[in-house]
Amino acid sequence: MSGEIRHSGGEYVDSGLRDVNGKPIEKWVRSSTEVKCCDEWVYCGGFTNTCPSCGTDYNMSGQQLAPRSQWGEDTGESLADILDIDSGWEYENR
Ligand SMILES: [Zn+2]
Repeated sequence: MSGEIRHSGGEYVDSGLRDVNGKPIEKWVRSSTEVKCCDEWVYCGGFTNTCPSCGTDYNMSGQQLAPRSQWGEDTGESLADILDIDSGWEYENR
């Protein structure tokens, strides 16, 4: 299914931030990992990286993560721990 991974040398990437004029702020990364998903390369620059097409999550090594509903069950990690690192999505306390 998934899994084609590529690495590249250092390059500038869009950091996702914008300066006061709305211009994209680029950041230099020494190397990058991307994983192919839905015929597109998903850049793995963070703790979790989500395919914009299907919503599959990948870690920064390009490995596919379990669905978020399963997080914490096998690894012993709490969702709070994960969210400390990546707070890009909402979590409702159970
Ligand atoms: Zn996908």
